[in-house]
This record gives sequence, C-alpha cells and structure tokens, in this order.
Amino acid sequence: MNKDVFIYRVDDTDTITSVSDNWGDFAEGNAWSGFLRPDDVVGRTLWDFIQDRETRHLYQELFKRARAGVPSRSIPFRCDSPSERRYLELLIVSLPDHQIEITSKILRTEPHSPMNLLKADTPRSKDYVTICSMCKKLKLAPEQWAEIEDGLVHLRLFEADEMPQLTHGLCQSCYQVALGELEILKTASKAIDNDKK
Ligand SMILES: [Zn+2]
Repeated sequence: MNKDVFIYRVDDTDTITSVSDNWGDFAEGNAWSGFLRPDDVVGRTLWDFIQDRETRHLYQELFKRARAGVPSRSIPFRCDSPSERRYLELLIVSLPDHQIEITSKILRTEPHSPMNLLKADTPRSKDYVTICSMCKKLKLAPEQWAEIEDGLVHLRLFEADEMPQLTHGLCQSCYQVALGELEILKTASKAIDNDKK
C-alpha cells in the first residue's frame, strides 16, 4: 500500500471499524502516542480523535452529506507533524449501511524545523494560543494570523522553556473556505433531493 494514503472506516455511529495497515505511521506522525496500533483505535468513536469544535462540526457536516448521497469531492487540508508541513487531501465516501470511508492522502510535505509547540510531550505553561485547525496558522491578535514559524517568533516562543497550551479554531480564510465547501455541498444535496421528488 502507498505509505502516503491512510484509510479508515466508521460505522453508522461514527465508531472506527477498521484502519489501514500503515495506521501506526500516521498516528506517529501526528504524535498520537498511545494510539499506535490499530487495536488502540478500532472500536473507539472517531470524535475521540477530533476534539476541536470547528473541525468536528465540519466532519459531521461532510458525513451527513455523504450519507445523504452527495457525491464526494476531495478537500485539501493541512495536517502538520512536529517536523513536517503536510499537505493532504481528504475524501469522504459513503458505503452501505451508513458506513463512511475516509481517505487522507499526503500530496506533499515540506520539512520545517522541529516544532516543540506541536509535540505532545512538551511541557506547557498556563497560557493559551489558538492554532487554525486547517492551515496551522497561529492567532496573534483578533483577525491576525501568521504561519507557525512567524507566529513562534512573534509570540517569542522560541525563547520560552514551556510552550503554551493549544486551542483550536479556524482562521478567517479557512473559515471562508470551509463555508464555501459546505455551500457547494448544500447545493449539491438540494439538487439530489429535488431529483428524488
Ligand atoms: Zn487557517
């Protein structure tokens, strides 16, 4: 199997029913310690792994559309590991009995200097920084987001002993992209509903 393609399935209750053999690499890349073996994830709800509200909402909407029969389109997104910027494509396909198959394919990666901020085991202070779930920009001020490297400099985090805790959100541009995707899907599902009538 192509090592850059990760596939998993959920059943009608969004419980993970299978993951591809290369799951361990994917989990390791995401610094998901404790979830490296397929046995660690199969049987758990997908929402244990997607905790921030906006991303969860986006997935739930996409699942709803897929289950309603809307043809899937691939959606570009970023999912960085501590040492790489990763550009991925997400494909959500409905299967019989309201199952869903999720394919994430890594389109390309770019190395970036090791990011303590993204590592799971980094000591944390009591401060919070918001990171965009989709493009991984950091929020510097209301309406102001910067690439993670620039953000770390701006927030003086390269010098800090402890990293702030991360909360997730969507920056303005990703929010617009996400809204646009949902609009396209809504229009498509309406068209399907109309066909059914
Ligand atoms: Zn963003």
